[in-house]
Amino acid sequence: MLTNAGIEQSLAEVRQRIDQAADRSHRDPRTIRLLAVSKFQPVSALEEAYHAGQRRFAENRVQEWLEKAPILKKDCEWHLVGSLQTNKVKYLDPSVFMIHSLDRFSLLKILNSEGERRGIIWTTLVQVNIARDPAKAGLKPEEVSDFLDSIGDYPHVQVQGFMTIGAVDASATETRGFFRQLRVLRDTLQAKEISGVDLRELSMGMSGDFEMAVEEGATFVRVGRQIFGTRQKV
Ligand SMILES: *Cc1c(COP(=O)(O)O)cnc(C)c1O
Repeated sequence: MLTNAGIEQSLAEVRQRIDQAADRSHRDPRTIRLLAVSKFQPVSALEEAYHAGQRRFAENRVQEWLEKAPILKKDCEWHLVGSLQTNKVKYLDPSVFMIHSLDRFSLLKILNSEGERRGIIWTTLVQVNIARDPAKAGLKPEEVSDFLDSIGDYPHVQVQGFMTIGAVDASATETRGFFRQLRVLRDTLQAKEISGVDLRELSMGMSGDFEMAVEEGATFVRVGRQIFGTRQKV
């Protein structure tokens, strides 16, 4: 973990780099939201980020979100970005602002039935394995259209866009290509005006590639280590 002053400073640097990337691509920087990915970081580190003005946090495990969210102030916005097991859905509540990892039918069904039972409409992003990385979750690009066509049958799940994780061993050029492909897929499917589907958001870009993601159209970037330093546990 970085020292407290370190977190404040690295946050400022990341925000500045986002603004500069937005500038280069003639985008309004206010359309890009920074998620501080706080997995494996102690609550004190999140509080430091909060103190530095950060309000949007992302966790990748339900258990960690359950432990940390009640300690942080209520005006934080929580995002879930990790693979979501269907047996964890029952622990979620409307204070989860967005689920970035809707990646299969079984999860769609459970979210819908749990939402119906408790009167919740979940806001989600469909995770797309745009890099076709066998080690990564997500729908294949060619599966996304059919998946979206069925969303209208699950009224307790709203889809607002796509999320992707770049391939680990990809070059910068390849990674930029993946981000661009996701945006093109979004534009193509948005034009179909599928019922119950509004693809305004693109969640892409992490510590190593968030500026490229901004240049290619990201509306959420998910940055962990570049803000908090090394994670505490693995
Ligand atoms: C951990 C994680 C991140 C942040 O990764 P860093 O390399 O620490 O910036 C972003 N997205 C997802 C889905 C993650 O699991």
